[in-house]
Amino acid sequence: MSNYTEKEQLARLEKTLRSIAYNSSWFFLEPQQQDLKDDIRNLFNQPVAEIEPDIERTSPPPAAEGKPLPSPEVLNREPAQKTDYQADSSSPAEPVSLDPSEAQSLDSLHLRIRDCDRCGLCFNRKTVVFGQGNIHADLVFVGEGPGEEEDNTGLAFVGKAGKLLTQIIHAIGLNRESVYICNVVKCRPPGNRNPAPEEIAACSPILLKQIELIHPKLVVTLGNVATKCLVKDAVGIMKMRGKTVDFNGIPLIPTFHPSYLLRNPSALSQVWSDMRKIRQVLFQKPVISS
Ligand code: URA
Repeated sequence: MSNYTEKEQLARLEKTLRSIAYNSSWFFLEPQQQDLKDDIRNLFNQPVAEIEPDIERTSPPPAAEGKPLPSPEVLNREPAQKTDYQADSSSPAEPVSLDPSEAQSLDSLHLRIRDCDRCGLCFNRKTVVFGQGNIHADLVFVGEGPGEEEDNTGLAFVGKAGKLLTQIIHAIGLNRESVYICNVVKCRPPGNRNPAPEEIAACSPILLKQIELIHPKLVVTLGNVATKCLVKDAVGIMKMRGKTVDFNGIPLIPTFHPSYLLRNPSALSQVWSDMRKIRQVLFQKPVISS
């Protein structure tokens, strides 16, 4: 059953058809017909709200304005695979509201954002990478955003950086199944660029809700993007790593991003000291030096 009302489905369909028409114009017009192309681009780039003033949800999110419209391949791709909670007919009917802040569980939050189009990252992603792990975890790791492998698999931190993160988790004395791992943005930024401020702003309510629902003993931010997203007045990671700060009443410790560590292995010794701190907060005792 769709999560969208009929009106929303029609609006989405219209948006899709307009996008296809816009993209197709490049195939049918000659290079010298630049004026016509410009007219078409202006026509199809006009905010959806001007065409559908009564349908609030389908207005392009501010972040999507000025972004290229999706290619026909993106528009024609298969919908994401059904998840357990969708297949389970005994689960209660899902609410129509897609507002993350109203979600009462991680499953419900996930369901609300699986077709998310709150920012322009939706145009190029394959999968919304929600995050995974123990929903009752004491420790939540927050990275930056999915890379290629994460986009392909739908799982956070499964590429090279993810393998290093697994080792770091083992060094704390835990495993991946006992912690929760997620990112600031849930869709892959093209070419693995840093997420833009408007993309972070569009996606951060989802992360905030995830942390609120899990309510861990400790949050560890991996790198600058995650730290700046969650810590007001954050300075650079070089100055903040290993320090405990407050995040809505939960201790938060920033440390280096595993991708940075892959490029700068000498920084691993500092991460080791951050792990001691993390262990102290979690277990009230330090890591035994090897
Ligand atoms: N993989 C992720 O899931 N997040 C990152 O920040 C980097 C790689």
